[in-house]
Amino acid sequence: MPHLLTILSRAASEPDMETGGLVPSIQFSTTFQRNPDGTYPKGYHYTRDGNPTRNQLERALIEIEGGSACRAFASGLAASNAVLQALPHDSQIVIPDDVYHGFRRLVDEEFVPRGMNVQSVDMSEPDQVLDAVSPKTVLIWVETPSNPLLKITDIRSIADIAEKIGAVLVVDGTWATPYLQKPFELGADIVIHSLTKYIAGHSDVLGGAVVAKKNDTFFQRIAAIQMAAGAVLDPFSSWLTMRGMRTLGIRLEHQCRTAGLIASFLEGHARVAQVHYPGLPSHRGHSTARTQMEKFGAMLSFQLKGGAEEATRVAAGSMIFMRATSLGGTESLIEHRASMEGPTSPTPTSLLRLSIGLEHPDDLIGDLTQALDRSSDR
Ligand SMILES: *Cc1c(COP(=O)(O)O)cnc(C)c1O
Repeated sequence: MPHLLTILSRAASEPDMETGGLVPSIQFSTTFQRNPDGTYPKGYHYTRDGNPTRNQLERALIEIEGGSACRAFASGLAASNAVLQALPHDSQIVIPDDVYHGFRRLVDEEFVPRGMNVQSVDMSEPDQVLDAVSPKTVLIWVETPSNPLLKITDIRSIADIAEKIGAVLVVDGTWATPYLQKPFELGADIVIHSLTKYIAGHSDVLGGAVVAKKNDTFFQRIAAIQMAAGAVLDPFSSWLTMRGMRTLGIRLEHQCRTAGLIASFLEGHARVAQVHYPGLPSHRGHSTARTQMEKFGAMLSFQLKGGAEEATRVAAGSMIFMRATSLGGTESLIEHRASMEGPTSPTPTSLLRLSIGLEHPDDLIGDLTQALDRSSDR
């Protein structure tokens, strides 16, 4: 098997059958002509059901994740929604207490009112999961590293619990990406991604994916929901995602290295109360991260001694970091997460979240240095 960096560098390179072109062509057609006998020449008949460009992306995602089936969705949350919809309405599920806030809203507003029974626990403590599950639990949802405290969940331990009770284990792999973490090798059944983030990687595509270890009846139910409801990824976004994927590995090599340098810099800074980065030996999930991740990722957060006011001033004073939500693009971002998540957010107000991009590490550290110095001058 070649290295993942090699596989990624030519992701989705199935030379175009008509022309020999190395880069996928884009099939924008929504409809496909039938043969005189009513059959379809290549099996395609309507793009909601199947599209050659989207299917090519799905094959590439299967290859890099190591699964056997995939559907690309219009967003990460559309992918998550289809997984939840595939369950009976009154299902019992267990999710992390610090799950991605958009997923929490989806569950609370759209599934709990229809009868879903949802337990939230600290997934970084497998004992809490063990206490929360019952023989009626049908699904356990893991997100690691978590947002925005970068808590690490031991996927293998949760997979053992899921297996014991016959529940499906879903891992949201958005933050780690298949380049850094392989949930199927650790016992997951389903991996979901927001392609919007690292995989497409340029802050210009909204997309999601469900990848399944086995093409079983549960996955087929998810695929049927996508076909029936239509939350598919469009051909151009599929193509942009394939283009982005080819540099996923090399982007992350640089981004993870820079994130490590920035985490160490912040940990040594007098105005910083705490840094949350799994690559730091001081991080509670460091040893688990070491065993299940190739590198520690390019997301981190930190808390200011001066609380919410100082956090706001540091974000305001940054010149290279851009003040925006989201992550995984080429540009570094700084975000006051609590105000983005709104009044019900459990995120500390003294916290700033960083998404590390492709800039030179010295420039990013210089930017944080001046923003921290300026904020303390006031
Ligand atoms: C962004 C994100 C999502 C949602 O993805 P969209 O593409 O914005 O719908 C889900 N999970 C995680 C961890 C995310 O960061």
